[in-house]
Amino acid sequence: MARPHIVFLMYHELELAGRKLCQSEPGYVRYILPVEEFRNQMAWMKQAGFSGLSVSEALLFPAQPSVCITFDDGCETDLIAAAPLLCEFGFHATFYVTAGFLDTPGYMTSHQLRELDSLGFEIGCHSMTHRYLSDLAEAELKREIVDAKQRIEQIVGHALDHFSCPGGRYNRRTIETACRAGFKTVANSEFRANSAATSNYNLGRVAMLRGLSREEFNATCHGRGLWKKRLQQQTRRGVQCALGNRAYDRLRAALLKGSRE
Ligand SMILES: [Zn+2]
Repeated sequence: MARPHIVFLMYHELELAGRKLCQSEPGYVRYILPVEEFRNQMAWMKQAGFSGLSVSEALLFPAQPSVCITFDDGCETDLIAAAPLLCEFGFHATFYVTAGFLDTPGYMTSHQLRELDSLGFEIGCHSMTHRYLSDLAEAELKREIVDAKQRIEQIVGHALDHFSCPGGRYNRRTIETACRAGFKTVANSEFRANSAATSNYNLGRVAMLRGLSREEFNATCHGRGLWKKRLQQQTRRGVQCALGNRAYDRLRAALLKGSRE
């Protein structure tokens, strides 16, 4: 019997001792896990009997307990930190790459991306320049989705099936453009597990924040308590809609800065 729900985890850059992060603002850093924290989570998953799957594998909804592992942005730590640990634990994952960030400081080079691909990890697309797709006109949307897909495909030498939305922002036009471009799935950042009944163009993912306890992590893998996070997110999204993306980001940066001081 197919398992009803699988949680998709969303990771970003990992923090390594002595290595500068791609960005330093608090709104970015809260999504960055020190590599030891990521290693612990993979160990907890293993101990709890979960398999780590790529998006393609997860969408087959296998019977054994599983969690889908995804990374956004295409940071260099995908290859040099995450991949070795995933290999060690025998887990698979999907890496969504921002095409325009390749070969820039802190991100993978084209050569490293090919290496990640050749290790057997699944490569997806996370736009061209990481702009919020819900804000864009037609030509810009094409560049962010269609052109980005082509650019990464040229590097890895095969078709990409999976897309994830920068900042989780998307609307109907985003989905239509991704679908026309030939993507088979679109993932967002909505806090919910996915089931066979979920549209492949509306895959929820749970953002992994630094400092999660073992209990919180285990609950997340089981899909427990996601409704609470979803409620908080819906409140935030309501504020985003009311203010617009840009004003919201300024407000958020100010609040996060204040909470650190
Ligand atoms: Zn991103």
